[in-house]
Amino acid sequence: MSAEDFRRYGHEIIDRLGDYLSQMERYPVLAQVKPGELRSQLPASAPERGEPMDSILGDVERLVLPALTHWNHPGFFAYFSISASAPGIFGELLAAAFNVNGMLWRTSPASTELEEVALSWLRQMMGLPEAFEGIIYDTASVSTMHAIAAAREALDVGVREEGMSGRPNLPLLRVYASEQAHSSVDKSVITLGLGLRALRKIPTDDEFRMDAAALAAAIEEDRREGFLPFCVVATVGTTSTSSIDPVPAIADICEREKLWLHVDAAYAGSAAVVPELRYAIEGAERADSIVTNPHKWLFTPIDISVLYCRRMDTLRRAFSLVAEYLRTSEGEAGEVHNQMDTGIQLGRRFRSLKLWMVMRYFGHEGLAARIREHCRLARLFASFVEESTDWELLAPVPFALVCFRARTRIEGETDAERAARLDALNERLMNAVNATGEVFLSHTRLHDALALRLAIGNIRTAETHIRRTWQLLNEQLSKLD
Ligand code: PLP
Repeated sequence: MSAEDFRRYGHEIIDRLGDYLSQMERYPVLAQVKPGELRSQLPASAPERGEPMDSILGDVERLVLPALTHWNHPGFFAYFSISASAPGIFGELLAAAFNVNGMLWRTSPASTELEEVALSWLRQMMGLPEAFEGIIYDTASVSTMHAIAAAREALDVGVREEGMSGRPNLPLLRVYASEQAHSSVDKSVITLGLGLRALRKIPTDDEFRMDAAALAAAIEEDRREGFLPFCVVATVGTTSTSSIDPVPAIADICEREKLWLHVDAAYAGSAAVVPELRYAIEGAERADSIVTNPHKWLFTPIDISVLYCRRMDTLRRAFSLVAEYLRTSEGEAGEVHNQMDTGIQLGRRFRSLKLWMVMRYFGHEGLAARIREHCRLARLFASFVEESTDWELLAPVPFALVCFRARTRIEGETDAERAARLDALNERLMNAVNATGEVFLSHTRLHDALALRLAIGNIRTAETHIRRTWQLLNEQLSKLD
């Protein structure tokens, strides 16, 4: 592509994106396409000859856009809502254009060192001690997998050299996490060859927080039975309800039992940049590792997950392997970090650029103000629920996620029948509000009941969207009643 065309189409794309982002509400938040609809409109094979950019961009508008679920939409409240802020989008664009591969310091001094700077800034904003070194991966699932691998390496039982199979003298290893922990912990033990039986799920209390006494008892029982406990994953901001495990009590147990403590703060870690919310990660400063996802609630486009670790050398010991073609010269060795040593991947995108730009553009104060506002909006919505006899809250609201349901008059012979009907009503309600195209809510199960989830995290969400969602829910409830 000529430099002239590059400029022309570049300007056009930015113009179109400017319209897209500023007129987001023209689009239904949840894609209104049927499965296979986009695929059926596209050729089965790549074109033999190149096509003009105009026609490619035309198809993006005509075919791709309608098949998007718009995560940037202010009415997106499902799962954990996220947003691509403008400085974050520019950071992605620049990173794509620079196209550096940060495998070694010399292959991209800028991405290696900017990552160190950006992660030090974020660490300070979160109030974490300097002992934590950071590394960026794509997702929290991958960060947690690396943390558990480092925990296993810290055991010093020779897994790196000997593996785990065919070793009768190696006891069965155990990882602990609450019943509310994210499925990425399960996937980590699968990936690391520990097997799901290595993961012991600890019960939670009425507010979905890990029961620390049950954790201590489980460890004791496992030791008696010959297991080798080595890691506990505590969650700050669980996926279903954003509950907060009692990290200080869990850290006491880990210190006493000499277990690696990993804190999954994928969602709520961002809240720690707000001074009055920092209490949420209390105890995490004593952890061995912590994951937080700036792509969740720090307005940085997906994907970017940060793993902070106070024993990065152990992580490097687990993964560092220098092939001859990657060996660096004497001068650099010892002076720099090569990011390929910190995990399974060799190649690395320049992800820190977008985070650095987001932090510079908004400043600590600007980021904190937005997160604080999301929490205010969640409390406002929760107050609507609490003040209404037709609705009820199903979990506390420590951050910006509200779990609730309609609880209107339901007939039924037995409790089980009434519970099933109430679940069905709430599911129909969710589907009905989602079908309006104005909002997108998701659900979970809490104490065996279907709960609707309203997760506020989008930078474009304002009070009007929250009030409108409440109105839509009540309109639909009166229609379904
Ligand atoms: N941990 C928690 C608490 C989460 O809520 C999620 C996703 O929502 C994850 C981990 C996994 O995140 P990722 O999609 O970055 O792997």
